[in-house]
Amino acid sequence: MLTPVESPGHLVRAAWSLSGDEVLDALGSGADGLSAATAEQRLAEVGRNELPLPPRPPLWRRVLSHFQDVLVYVLLVAAGLKAILGEWIDFAVILLVAVVNAAVGLIQEGRAESALDGIRKMLSPGAEVRRDGAWTKVDAAAVVPGDVVRVRAGDGVPADVRLLTASNLRVEESALTGESVPSTKDPAPVDAVAGVGDRSSMLFSGTIVAAGSGEGVVVATGAATEIGAIQSLVAEAEELATPLTRQLGRFGTQIALLILVMGVLMAVIGHTVHHLSVDDLLSASIGFAVAAVPEGLPALVTITLALGVQQMADRNAITRRLPAVETLGSVSTICSDKTGTLTKNEMTARTVRTAHGTVEVAGAGYAPEGGLTVASQELVAGEHPDVEALLDTMALCNDAQVVRSADGWSLVGEPTEGALRTLALKAGTGTSAWRRVAVLPFDSAVKYMATLDRDDERAVTVLHVKGAPDRVLELCRTQATPDGASEPVDTGFWLAQVDELGSHGLRVLAAARRSAPADAVSIEDDDLRDLELCGLVGIVDPPRPEAIDAIAECHRAGITVKMITGDHAGTATAIAQELGLLTPDGRPAHRTADVDRDAPVVLTGAELEAMSNEQLRGVVRDVDVYARTSPEHKIRIVSALQAHRQVVAMTGDGVNDAPALTQADVGVAMGIKGTEATKEAADVVLADDNFATIERAVEEGRRIYDNVRKSVLFLLPTNGAQALVILVAVLFGLTMPLEPVQVLWINMITAVTLSLALAYEKAEPGIMDRPPRDADASILGGAALRRILLVSALIGAATLVVFFVERDGHMTVDQAQTTAVTMLAFGQLAYLFNCRFTDRSSLSLDVLRGNRVLWISAGSLVVLQAVFVYAPFMHTLFGSAAVPWRGWWVPLVLAVGVFLVVEAGKAVGRVRGRSPR
Ligand code: ATP
Repeated sequence: MLTPVESPGHLVRAAWSLSGDEVLDALGSGADGLSAATAEQRLAEVGRNELPLPPRPPLWRRVLSHFQDVLVYVLLVAAGLKAILGEWIDFAVILLVAVVNAAVGLIQEGRAESALDGIRKMLSPGAEVRRDGAWTKVDAAAVVPGDVVRVRAGDGVPADVRLLTASNLRVEESALTGESVPSTKDPAPVDAVAGVGDRSSMLFSGTIVAAGSGEGVVVATGAATEIGAIQSLVAEAEELATPLTRQLGRFGTQIALLILVMGVLMAVIGHTVHHLSVDDLLSASIGFAVAAVPEGLPALVTITLALGVQQMADRNAITRRLPAVETLGSVSTICSDKTGTLTKNEMTARTVRTAHGTVEVAGAGYAPEGGLTVASQELVAGEHPDVEALLDTMALCNDAQVVRSADGWSLVGEPTEGALRTLALKAGTGTSAWRRVAVLPFDSAVKYMATLDRDDERAVTVLHVKGAPDRVLELCRTQATPDGASEPVDTGFWLAQVDELGSHGLRVLAAARRSAPADAVSIEDDDLRDLELCGLVGIVDPPRPEAIDAIAECHRAGITVKMITGDHAGTATAIAQELGLLTPDGRPAHRTADVDRDAPVVLTGAELEAMSNEQLRGVVRDVDVYARTSPEHKIRIVSALQAHRQVVAMTGDGVNDAPALTQADVGVAMGIKGTEATKEAADVVLADDNFATIERAVEEGRRIYDNVRKSVLFLLPTNGAQALVILVAVLFGLTMPLEPVQVLWINMITAVTLSLALAYEKAEPGIMDRPPRDADASILGGAALRRILLVSALIGAATLVVFFVERDGHMTVDQAQTTAVTMLAFGQLAYLFNCRFTDRSSLSLDVLRGNRVLWISAGSLVVLQAVFVYAPFMHTLFGSAAVPWRGWWVPLVLAVGVFLVVEAGKAVGRVRGRSPR
């Protein structure tokens, strides 16, 4: 049984002041980690490595928060006035409606939150632990004290860890210490009384590795960690407000002010011209206010966006922030990494080039099956020392493993390294004689990796380097010859080889080495000099077929796609041609109208660096392929594009990509390949690392935005029509066609039934054939406002006609009012079918298909309205009355009329080229 020996729950007292071995001993662990069985038992004892969730606010508080709304205040004041007037039934109904409104809000908020919660769970971090002597990836929540874990740049630290080894390890600990400069870490013990910020031999849960790599043993998990002690998980309050909801919120306030002014005007006219009693005026004003305020709007937008987030997650795009959904819909440029996003990231070494020959490699994938041949002859061991030196280097300077399982060979580690591991295995290269002394991990900023390896038996220590050929070449003085000797390096020859391999779309890596002093124990960047170049390896990484289609689709949708890669310009060009970013003759496939003919086709990182921001802005829109870039170039590219008012989505995976992702309008992180640091900075995480998913997410973003607009276009005329009815009645001194409670009824039933239906609309055909929307344009342009006014007038007029015709001809006032309410309900229902297609004609059978929720909503509306008309208790509550048949068919016929007139309006808009879009 493990017992904590010190606050805040560490199982080893002041682990930072002890040696690594002492800590391992104290935790009953060893350098090889725990056995899976022990880990499981410990997990049962100490619990999962999670911080307790903060308590949710109690239900009553959440309910109350839904009453904190201007409209609800209006309702409560209205109820108070009714009470003063002694109209107790109205008082009760208004209160009831306020409660129902709050309940609807609460339920919708709950659904939005649970959608977002579920999505957060999809992003639960992982950890690399050593179990039964082998490295495996587990859920970070399953890490237990005593586990040996490994971290590298970009990883989140899964628990509190006492370091055992570290290589250039720097950790960003601001979550814990507030210090934003990364702290350097190494395993040397520090003073037992050192403060958290000075415990350089410890890694703390919740912090992020900024650079380097390290291994350590877990000393505390879950609430027992330092971060657990200071907070039980900062309640990461999900921001439900987005620019769109705020825009609509402001719009709502403007409407509210307008209502106030009109309400006063109405009361003045009612009093002076028609001599209405205070009682009647009050009733009319209450009715008008209740009718005109679009109270359901912000909630409707939030729920539509949240549902969209859920629907996007089903398509592998996990949205971390709600506003990203609407931004996605306006993306005009996508900047994408190449490797793994546009390509399959299933790498196979195809060819090896040495100073004096070529070795062809057979086979595909990570299975070490397939031979190496020189001039069609099988490679014979011992006959090609230069090739063997290259294979040794590629095998030793390598962290990947390929493992055989029931379903074939699979890779543990990075694909580039996996391809090189498989290559070495195919050649039968063994590494068992060697022991790794130190490592300089691969970093995409320097583009190489180095290891210091020792063969104790032969008493040799060698520095092995592999990396991007141009970088490695700079570090070489000699090259290996076929007989195992050295000669001066022929840079021109190698650069030509790199170009040649790159032109076939191969990813090229170089291998180099140098003997090192026997007592060397570490590597610094400065040690990488005077190397001997062993040769090059060309690796294929085929494009994803779906990426080719997705790029074509983006081009159709007016979205520019830019490939930003660390690979060589030749490789980038060849892949860009295969992907359809460049034409077969190497010209950009998709260009802006005002194209700069002098802009280069491919811009390299070095060329970019030589440019001023001004110069970069001049060419950035016309260059679609960026090669040999470092992560810091991405941020300049994004800024230059944004200067052209482009809405930019940018992908990233490495720790250094985080700033560019933050700068982009939509930061997109890779879910599989991406580091924790990148995911933290991203708005969207791709569960499958696939470019096609970004394209689909943009399409979803457009659909969701369309649906929000449809919902707004649908909802506002409800208020418009009702307000108009009351306004006309008062201004002309007519009998009130609607009682305030009846207005509330119609608002309530449209809120609970019809308004949500449009959130489930599928994408309209051609959604990806139109250019991106202007991100700055208001959701309600002139055409949209005209449509709202037209429909308000139509439904309002129909309601007035129904009421006065029926009252004067066939019905009592109560019955006529009831029929007026039915008219409003049916008018809205008919208009819902208009709204399904923004511009396209709804006079087609399509309007009846493709949205089940719409039919459920429509059915519920009719049932509720039938209850309103026939249930005696409703007669008491809402002053409704049972009506003869004409109380149904007249509104129905008029509703069909409304539908047809709106369609005619849409047709005129189509002819004139005006759309509410
Ligand atoms: P993208 O940005 O398109 O994903 P990338 O992943 O190819 O590009 P980097 O990972 O920065 O970009 O790689 C750049 C270059 O560094 C590669 O072309 C290759 O030559 C070299 N390289 C890649 N991985 C390794 C590695 N593990 N060890 C050594 N060198 C590597």
